[in-house]
Amino acid sequence: MFDEKTLKELAAITAQGPILSVYLNVDTTQRTRDEYRLELRDMLKQIQSEADEADIEAARRYVELEYDWSGRGLVLFSRQEEGIWYAFSLAVPVRSGATVARKPYISPLVKLNSLYGRYAVALIDRQGGRFFLFQMGELTVQEGTVGESVHHLRQGGGSSSPGRRSGSAVSGRKEAAIIQRNWRDTIKSLELFCQTHRPRRLLLAGNETTLAQVRELLPKALQKIVGGSFAADVEANEVEIRDRSFELIYELAHKRHQDMVETVVTAAAKGQNGIVGLDETLSAAHEGRIQVLIVAQTYHEPGYRCQGCGYLTTQKVARCPFCGGEFAEIPDAVEAVVSQTVEKGGTVEVISDELMAETKIGALLRY
Ligand SMILES: [Zn+2]
Repeated sequence: MFDEKTLKELAAITAQGPILSVYLNVDTTQRTRDEYRLELRDMLKQIQSEADEADIEAARRYVELEYDWSGRGLVLFSRQEEGIWYAFSLAVPVRSGATVARKPYISPLVKLNSLYGRYAVALIDRQGGRFFLFQMGELTVQEGTVGESVHHLRQGGGSSSPGRRSGSAVSGRKEAAIIQRNWRDTIKSLELFCQTHRPRRLLLAGNETTLAQVRELLPKALQKIVGGSFAADVEANEVEIRDRSFELIYELAHKRHQDMVETVVTAAAKGQNGIVGLDETLSAAHEGRIQVLIVAQTYHEPGYRCQGCGYLTTQKVARCPFCGGEFAEIPDAVEAVVSQTVEKGGTVEVISDELMAETKIGALLRY
């Protein structure tokens, strides 16, 4: 199972020789397995001259013989000569591509992790709730809680009592009390669920009236992580919940990214804790000052990495100003800073090019 820990582990890898990174989109409802195998062969052929034969063979063998085609995205990292091998089957689609470098190409994973990494959905009605935990788009935990039925009172009162009108006022009050109690119990269970599984975000699902009231009752800790809500029937199946939550997550990310770009650009303009531009970002990353890195999805720029201390720069200089080490040319300094930020515990947001047309890269700094 892919998680945040694995991402940090990948970010920390620097090999002596070329690592092969492969992303393969494998939605078998769209195309056949053979078509995907063919696509993989083509991709591997294109990087044949840069990659080790053993890694190309390992990737091919895995897809031919071991892969179970269960997910929508496949990610492989291989450097056989140094014992490096990772294979992840993801429940979310990826953009197909193969690259070769000294470090695993992790930007697409960083992006998916930020979107679908670890979130919960609470589907709540008047009687109880169902809670879902998703990791990288995959449903990993499902729990439910059921309180006292709300409907039996109304039905019971209606059929057994001849004085139906006066009876229904009483049962109406009773009903409201039961709903309140059910919601309190449901929220207690939800609190426990979130304490146990620690989702980064919580999405609420159900009918609008219920959710508006439930939201008021949530404790602060849960309110803080609520990202949004969507309408859903309490009987909705897992696939519906997953698909609706994907849509909402996508919308929320777009909004969050818009705000983030604005925050960074404004802070940079005011000379506060924001910076824009590659060289400034590389320097801040080296000092470990990056709290949030924002980067355009398809932005790449060649550069240099100090072989002594890892300092990244786009300027060709003879010796590292920090440690006196020698520089090695790297194909993508942008990817390198993404990796460095993840490794140092910063947050990375890979943002659509459309939102990053002017600011290709920037960051919010810790200090
Ligand atoms: Zn150095």
